[in-house]
Formats: sequence, structure tokens, C-alpha cells
Amino acid sequence: MKVRVDPEICAGFGICTGIAPEVFELHDDGYAVVLVSAIAPGDEDLMLRAESQCPARAISIIPD
Ligand code: SF4
Repeated sequence: MKVRVDPEICAGFGICTGIAPEVFELHDDGYAVVLVSAIAPGDEDLMLRAESQCPARAISIIPD
């Protein structure tokens, strides 16, 4: 699994960084960036939660 954040849509609410700070980081320009190239199997549920809770619907999940 991979995740992406669309910087054009992200509004910088920071919910994803609260859910998974090892995966998401708020960029100085006010949008979240993804820190890892692939999601560890044990973190997949966290990614689904981040995707569903992002108010801007900016997070995309890319299955393997
Ligand atoms: S929760 Fe969504 S809108 Fe908020 S920082 Fe993360 S990707 Fe951006």
C-alpha cells in the first residue's frame, strides 16, 4: 500500500499527522507530505482511518 496527499486539495487540518506522525508531516507551506514510500503492513488500518477522517478528502490510498 502507498498513500498520497494532493497538495492542491489538502487544507492543512493536520488530522493525518495526528493519526500517523511517522507517515504524514505538515509542510511549511501548509499542506501535508508523505514521509514514506510504502506503508508497513501493520499501519494499513491507520492509513484507512487517516483517509476517511481527512476533512478535505485529500488522501488517496494506492493498494499494492
Ligand atoms: S487531514 Fe487531510 S487536509 Fe488535513 S493535513 Fe492531512 S491531508 Fe491535509
